[in-house]
Amino acid sequence: MPEKIHLSCLFCDTKFEIYNEINQFACSKCGNEFYIEKSGGVVYINPVNDINKQQIDKQYYQIKKVFLHLNIKI
Ligand SMILES: [Zn+2]
Repeated sequence: MPEKIHLSCLFCDTKFEIYNEINQFACSKCGNEFYIEKSGGVVYINPVNDINKQQIDKQYYQIKKVFLHLNIKI
């Protein structure tokens, strides 16, 4: 059975549950797309479009620095 990852949208904080092997997803609420990076047991989500990054400006970058450090066994 595939493992699931719990994530939150960086823009609207909608909670997601996605399968471990998925590398890209779109938020069902705000429509923003994200790609997922996995490294050393940590999952990072980043907006796909640079336009989206501009829309959320400083708040985004603060969030991005922190990323989403999830304790998931990958
Ligand atoms: Zn969203």
